[in-house]
Amino acid sequence: MSKAKDYTESLEIGVQEKQEPEDPQKRWINKMIKSARRYHKLCPYYDKKTGICLLSITVEGVQNKCDRDGRYENCPVFAKFLEKMYDYYRKRRKVLPSDFQDVVHQAFLI
Ligand code: SF4
Repeated sequence: MSKAKDYTESLEIGVQEKQEPEDPQKRWINKMIKSARRYHKLCPYYDKKTGICLLSITVEGVQNKCDRDGRYENCPVFAKFLEKMYDYYRKRRKVLPSDFQDVVHQAFLI
C-alpha cells in the first residue's frame, strides 16, 4: 500500500471519528434546550421582578442575579442544572424525560 493511500485512509478515519455521535449527556441536554424553546421564551427560572436566577441556589449554592436577562440557550447555569438532572436520572436508573416540561418542576430535587 502506498504512503499516499495510507494518508488518505487515516484522513477518512479521522473524519469518521469526528462524525461519531456526541456523548449521551450532551445529546440529552441539547434535546432539553430544544424542547424548552417550545414552551419558554425566557428562562423559567428567571424572576422578572427581581432579576434573580432561581436555579443558582440549587446549582451553585448561592443566590445570584441573572446576568443574561433570562436568555437561557447558552447559559452555563442552565446547562449545569440539566447535567445534574441527567446524573440524577441515571443514578436512579430512571427513564430520561424527552420533554422539558417533565424536568422544569424538578429543579429542587437535585
Ligand atoms: S442565569 Fe441562566 S438559569 Fe439563571 S435565570 Fe438566567 S438564564 Fe436562567
